[in-house]
Amino acid sequence: MTIASFPVTAIFDWYDRHGRSLPWRRRWPELAPAYHVWLSEIMLQQTVVATVIPYFLDFTRRWPEICDLAAAGQDEVMAAWAGLGYYARARNLHRAAGIVCAEHEGRFPADVEGLRRLPGIGPYTAGAIAAIAFGRHSTVVDGNIERVLARYFAITTPLPAAKAEIGARYDEILPSERPSDFPQALMDFANAVCTPRNPGCGACPLAGGCAARRAGTAEALPVKAPKKTKPQRRGIAFVAIDSRGRTFMETRAERGMLGGMLAFPSAGWTPDDGVYDPENPFASAPFGADWRMAGETVSHVFTHFSLTMDVALAEHDGAGPPENWHPVRPARLPTLMRKVWTVARRQL
Ligand code: SF4
Repeated sequence: MTIASFPVTAIFDWYDRHGRSLPWRRRWPELAPAYHVWLSEIMLQQTVVATVIPYFLDFTRRWPEICDLAAAGQDEVMAAWAGLGYYARARNLHRAAGIVCAEHEGRFPADVEGLRRLPGIGPYTAGAIAAIAFGRHSTVVDGNIERVLARYFAITTPLPAAKAEIGARYDEILPSERPSDFPQALMDFANAVCTPRNPGCGACPLAGGCAARRAGTAEALPVKAPKKTKPQRRGIAFVAIDSRGRTFMETRAERGMLGGMLAFPSAGWTPDDGVYDPENPFASAPFGADWRMAGETVSHVFTHFSLTMDVALAEHDGAGPPENWHPVRPARLPTLMRKVWTVARRQL
């Protein structure tokens, strides 16, 4: 097998001129604190940079060091995470902070194997922390880097089967200099130039050696296995409000969708939430009240299914345990429940 060649200098030159300034980023030879790299990488899973920045700034203001985060209550961390989705990530984040603080004196392991032993850290995240925070020559291939390398080397195997081949190419081209900058340079370049649609091949500093550019196949790469259509689910959320403007909410079970989050009672959309029969919508209500249907539904897309949520409303005083009645703080609700509240509050 031939060793791939890649214009590393051109990528670094591009990065030095056009790379983004991000609050968790440092430039070689300076290395970003592992706490910041880890926090940003966990937040960036399934979420775009623009959304993550205010959350990152908020977390590091509240908890400047990892042991501050470890000492925070889980409820507090979950509430600060609200809106970022995938709540298991927040629970693992808090658990990992506890382990780093208690078992590693507040310092992250510097190698991929040690990092992978922490909750919520998979191979990509471990590689990214090892490279970006510790300057290790680890493999860091996210969807952006996949795109650039699949195009540059014209890899036509569909993803995800192509991952091993792309990872091997990455290891071949990984330069000995600036190991923390290299993956970040490729990611920024992928975002700004080698974009999914209309890549900027005309002004691209890699164009001379790019196999997809030569073959005219840039936009067709990387090839992706056909997406399965998402199943549709239907559910209902119950919003009861009392005369003091408080609503009835429950903390969801730790395991499962929106685990550990405060939410309106709901039914039908996960196996744990009970059955929902749209013909008899109030059968799964949390308590008897003069329920009525809101005229609108809520739509929300999860990784594995799309949800249409009906919303039932009632004015009611004193049902259920008193500690279940809360003033609504939308910023502390998961996005689905924030949408439910937006519908409800128009009509209550
Ligand atoms: S020439 Fe086009 S496809 Fe190739 S790396 Fe540059 S932008 Fe991407």
